[in-house]
Amino acid sequence: MEPRILQIALDTPLDMLFDYRWRNEPGAALPMVGQIVLVPFGRRTVAGVIVAIQAQSDLPDDKLKDVIAIRQQVPPLGAEWLDLCRFAADYYQRPLGEVALPSLPKNLRALTSVALNSALKKQAKIAPLHDPVPVAMPLLNSEQQIAVDTIAGASGFAPILLHGVTGSGKTEVYLQTAAHILARDDGAAAQVLILIPEINLTPQLEASVRQRFPGVAVVSLHSGLAEGERMRNWLAAHTGQARIVLGTRLAVLSSLPHLKMIVIDEEHDPSYKQQEGLRYSARDLAVWRAHQLGIPVVLGSATPSLETWQHAQSGRYRKLVLRQRAVADAVLPKVGLIDMERDKGGGGLTSTLAAALRLRLERGEQSLLFLNRRGYAPVLSCDACGWISNCTRCTAMMVLHKPEHRLRCHHCSLELRIPRSCPTCGNVDLQPLGRGTQRIEEHVQAQFPEARILRIDADSTRRKGSAQAAFDSVHGGDVDILIGTQMVSKGHDFKNLTLVGILNPDTALFSHDYRASERLFAQLMQVAGRAGRAAQKTDGNPGQVLIQTRYPQHPLFAALGAYDYDGFANALLEERQQAAMPPFIYQALLRAEAKELETALQFLQQAAECLNAPDITIHDPIPMTMVRVANQERAQLLIECVSRPALQAFLKQWLPALRQMKSRVKWSVEVDPVDI
Ligand code: ADP
Ligand code: ZN
Ligand code: ZN
Repeated sequence: MEPRILQIALDTPLDMLFDYRWRNEPGAALPMVGQIVLVPFGRRTVAGVIVAIQAQSDLPDDKLKDVIAIRQQVPPLGAEWLDLCRFAADYYQRPLGEVALPSLPKNLRALTSVALNSALKKQAKIAPLHDPVPVAMPLLNSEQQIAVDTIAGASGFAPILLHGVTGSGKTEVYLQTAAHILARDDGAAAQVLILIPEINLTPQLEASVRQRFPGVAVVSLHSGLAEGERMRNWLAAHTGQARIVLGTRLAVLSSLPHLKMIVIDEEHDPSYKQQEGLRYSARDLAVWRAHQLGIPVVLGSATPSLETWQHAQSGRYRKLVLRQRAVADAVLPKVGLIDMERDKGGGGLTSTLAAALRLRLERGEQSLLFLNRRGYAPVLSCDACGWISNCTRCTAMMVLHKPEHRLRCHHCSLELRIPRSCPTCGNVDLQPLGRGTQRIEEHVQAQFPEARILRIDADSTRRKGSAQAAFDSVHGGDVDILIGTQMVSKGHDFKNLTLVGILNPDTALFSHDYRASERLFAQLMQVAGRAGRAAQKTDGNPGQVLIQTRYPQHPLFAALGAYDYDGFANALLEERQQAAMPPFIYQALLRAEAKELETALQFLQQAAECLNAPDITIHDPIPMTMVRVANQERAQLLIECVSRPALQAFLKQWLPALRQMKSRVKWSVEVDPVDI
């Protein structure tokens, strides 16, 4: 038989497919679209995915190279998965191979199949719990029941916003709906994908899902897994063995041949947006995937993103509402504002908040102090000469990390020992300015020496498994006062926590970023939602939230206190509509970086002029707010259009033109950018 030509997607920046020859050996199985192959590429051997098989190539025979190996032991990736990758590549303007290959586990792309074969053996053992002990499902309240019936009863593509206050039992709705879907027999065993924003929420959820679905294989997929485990779990999903897949954003690109429902928990969460490489929105891809497959997709949140809210308001998404907390007698915590101009307190803690903490300690209840700034102090300074701890490589200040005895730049990871004296004038009395979680911890410990205090942030949980251990000790009641960044704000169902103190939300109130207030509202509502989740004791405190601010009159706080998400979101949407901002307009952002700002700006200026496009608004190139990071100067160019297809059509022409410019400037395009 004639040799065949395989068209292969490779992980390269070249926007093309590559032809390779496959020589038929007697008795060998024929290659199939969707199989993983190894091929020579330049002087290397790389992995690729077969996307088409042809009789002939446009390349002359002597230019064609042979395929080295085909990973026959793995069933081919399906056409639907390839289409998903094609869509993502097309929409986010990247080569197909740059989307498809990095989404696969490393061991599947490895040059030897040793790890793969061992994973295949172990995968066979990924099994449900041995002794299934069924747990009783709680009786749903009527709002939950309506939600489950509606989602499970939906046919075809059904995008559904599940708008439920914190603690309203959204998880219960996901689980009981999943039970309906899995029980259905459509010939193949159905699969359900549940996306969650944070790795540190998977173990908790995974445990309750396993318990709830004895006899069902459940796997998780996230970047915290060791390669071997990721490979096994991915294979279990790919072969259809795993029926429930829990994962962070990267799981949206996993292969799920019998996918019948997708859940996006906390759909508003910024971590669904990948911020480097392929800058995709896992939420948007999940909705596309549900559309492609004609299945329901549930977007759950107490504070939906404005994009999703707009779809719900316009009727494109169906909206289901859970107004009450699910646990009997659990109520939403009361929100109080503490005017920091009047109540100064000390060490970043007002006397009102300190008194509330003391009361919780006396009652044996837990408290949470939320401050979205890690480190000891955001800057170290010299009063004598005005020196401050600027990063030498970035337009940013180096953060003081006291326990680690370091100054650290959070943008380029430069680290220095804390100077003993001012580098400019020799003054030995250097002062920390401002407060981060470490400094708050130090102060609270001094003020409440008897309290058991735990800080949870990216620094305290660097070691693998340490975040889980920390959360376990909170759940286990070994902590009186928890201090943390956004890491502690989401999802967790702390049963004995009755007070949330929010230390310094003010900087976000007046940010130049138009999304800042949407984010702040969501973040505060989430963290507030950690309080008072259990039933109120008759003699106990209901949950309480205290916000320390210099702007107690700010309307955002009024809306928050009234739990008026609807009013807040509708007002924001109206502002956005009047100002022609997303979701009423579509955007793409061209970023450029170079040694000198001028070079980056010149490139952007040329880019702005290289195509004539009447429907597209091309703004002026501007330096980014943080101009320099790791000695690169950065600038950006925003383009906008009222029509998404028109913007896409423009990008299709524009990117090839940009490549033609052959500039040495490093540039990238982001579609639907969130940080502008
Ligand atoms: P959300 O995700 O909406 O914030 P959760 O799903 O964490 O809320 O649920 C909050 C609490 O309510 C959990 O402890 C859960 O077990 C409990 N719960 C959920 N539904 C019910 C129900 N129908 N009856 C009693 N308790 C429930
Ligand atoms: Zn000095
Ligand atoms: Zn830096």
